[in-house]
Order: sequence, then structure tokens, then C-alpha cells
Amino acid sequence: MVDAPKNRPLHPATIAAQAAGATDVETGGVVPAIHMATTFARDVDYAPLKDNNVYLRSHNENARIAEQLLSQLEGAADTLLFGSGMAAVAAVFRTVPSGATVLVQKQIYWGTTAWIRAFCERRDITLEEVEASDPQALEGACNSLRPALVWIETPSNPWLRITDVARAAKMAHDVGATLVVDSTAASPVLSQPLRYGADIVMHSATKGINGHSDVLAGALCVADPDSRMWQDIRADRDMAGAVLGPMEAWLLTRGMRTLPLRMREMSKNAMTLATYLMDHPAVEEVLYPGLPDHPGHAIAAEQMTGGYGCLLSFVVRGGGDAALKAAGRLQLFHRATSLGGVESLVEHRHTIEPHTGIPEGLLRVSVGIEDADDLINDLAQALGQ
Ligand SMILES: *Cc1c(COP(=O)(O)O)cnc(C)c1O
Repeated sequence: MVDAPKNRPLHPATIAAQAAGATDVETGGVVPAIHMATTFARDVDYAPLKDNNVYLRSHNENARIAEQLLSQLEGAADTLLFGSGMAAVAAVFRTVPSGATVLVQKQIYWGTTAWIRAFCERRDITLEEVEASDPQALEGACNSLRPALVWIETPSNPWLRITDVARAAKMAHDVGATLVVDSTAASPVLSQPLRYGADIVMHSATKGINGHSDVLAGALCVADPDSRMWQDIRADRDMAGAVLGPMEAWLLTRGMRTLPLRMREMSKNAMTLATYLMDHPAVEEVLYPGLPDHPGHAIAAEQMTGGYGCLLSFVVRGGGDAALKAAGRLQLFHRATSLGGVESLVEHRHTIEPHTGIPEGLLRVSVGIEDADDLINDLAQALGQ
């Protein structure tokens, strides 16, 4: 690992490419080894041969390597990896005591909303859903409900709404709440919510962080690892076992080496496509925070750096039928859910969540790293220029 010149922190691209210095000390390999052992031996006096290595559920070297790298990229004091993004969401909500109130942003990732609704009902937790991208609405709800936890998602999926993290953090902290930000669509390359006052950042690492549509993983990154909530989350992962396996953690580290490169290219492509779609007669509306007239553009420009991400939605004129037909004609975009992989995907969200207010003509696109001209040509033939 190249040492940073004195007093000059390394840039994210360098940290990522070198996996925060992880190598295989045993063999001299420049890539860390995969450690599959589930249990670790003790010496004749019954002390662990290696400090901190007893059993895989609690001690996973490959997870540690990926967690350290993610902490550095996110500007976090500590990171915990989970077997999926939803396992990370659940780990946070399991720390909320029964009888408490939580405030959750409206119209976010549908899986999060659906799971939180069911969980809060079972646990006797009062759930209030609020349009958090509207600061007045968020402030009103914080002050009147005095929640224990505020959960936001920015940019939101699939509406691409932008919430001001610094403002949300102040509102939450003023009433004693913890602010958690689902930053999946931004990735640590484009946005670091902890720097704006968030307490915990959540990622579905299945998406851009891994970036190759071949690992299911989730992450929580924290500003204050001594906080009560973080101690509870750490103990719960250890004891309840929502851990990531060594192979997945190793793949995640490998994926993150190119994260800055991929996010830059995807954001550039997404911006090009958004601009193209804006002028297309078959398109009613384009939702992308990089566009100057997007309602969240000014805040996005402030709290995101290097681009606005791969996630982009647009509304096809003619409603559900027209949108589904256009999706059916696409040849390069896979018709598949998920986002943040190197290959472009398209999804008709109304088919998946018909009762949540998603316009029938909306297509959500995850823009990959293909050549932008090829993607535009595909959209052109699908939409009929
Ligand atoms: C995919 C996703 C999740 C859930 O993550 P999984 O890895 O699929 O469990 C949560 N939030 C957002 C914004 C997502 O896109």
C-alpha cells in the first residue's frame, strides 16, 4: 500500500483500488485470501490462537476487510455488514423499543416500507410516514410526534426525491431522535450523509457498492460507535446471526475496488440519458436530480459530489400500456429489478407496487457503464423517435 504523503489523506479512488491496504500477509498476495473456516482453534492453555477469532458468526476476517474499506469510503467510525440490505434495515428497527414512535419517509424503496409497516404493527411501535423531502412536513412531524427514530432515503427509489440531510439531522436531533439515511442510490462515492449529521447510514450493498449483480449484502455505517443503538445493533448481529458469509464479503471487497470508477461512469451516462429523454416527445416527465429543474437539484448539488447516481425514472406518454410496450422493445436494458450493476436495467414499478401512487407510465432505469450512444439508440428505437 502506498503511504499517504504526510497530512494528505488519500482520495477515495486510491483507497478503493487498494482495498484500504488489504493484502494476504501469509503469501504476499496483493489480494486478500478467502477464509472459509467457521471455527478457530485454541492453544494448550485454551486461549484463542488468534485474538478475536473464535467462531465465524462473530469473527469473519473477510467481513472485517470489507467493513474497514467501506468505513473509509463512507467517512464512518465503524461499519457492520449484513446478509442483505433488508437485514440491515431490520437490525436498526429491532433496536426500537415497543411503544416508541418512528418517522419514516413516504414513497421510498417498497421493500423497506412493507417490512417496516408489518414490523411496527407486531411490535406496537407507532409508525408515521411523512414526505421527508418537504422540510416543513418533516419538521412538523418531528415536533408533534417526537419520534425515537427518523428514517430517510435520498435519492429515493423510484421517485428520485432529495432530502436535505443536514436539515433532517437537525430536526431529528432537536427532538432527541436518531437519523438513519438509506444512501443506497448515492453510494459512499457520491454522498456521505454522516458528514451532514446523520447518525447511521444504511446501504443495500447488493446495488452499486458491489456493482456486478452477483452479491446480496447490506451495510450500516455509524458516526458514533459508542452509541447505545450501535452497541445493540452489533450485539444483535452477533447473537441473532444476520451476518455476511466470507465469500460474499470477499466479492464485495473486489467489487468496491472499482466503485468510484463505476459510479462516475454510471452518473455520467445517467445524466446523458436524462438529458436525451427530457427532449423526447414520447416522454412526459423525467425524474433525475442532476437535471437543473428537478425540485431537489440545488440540495443534491450541495450534498452529492461527482454525480447524481445511476437511478433515473421517466414517465412514458400513454400510460401503463405504452410504458410496458416500450420496456418490451428494449434490447440492451434487461427487464429486471435492482440497480447499481454495470449492466443497464429497466423496471415497470407500477406492476410491482400498484397501490403506492407510482404513475402507470413510469419506467425506472438503472444506468450501467455501457457506451451511452448504444443506450440512447436502444431507448430511441423502443420509444419510437
Ligand atoms: C434494494 C434496496 C434495499 C434492500 O436491499 P436488499 O439488499 O435487496 O435486501 C433497501 N433500500 C434501497 C434503496 C434499495 O434499493
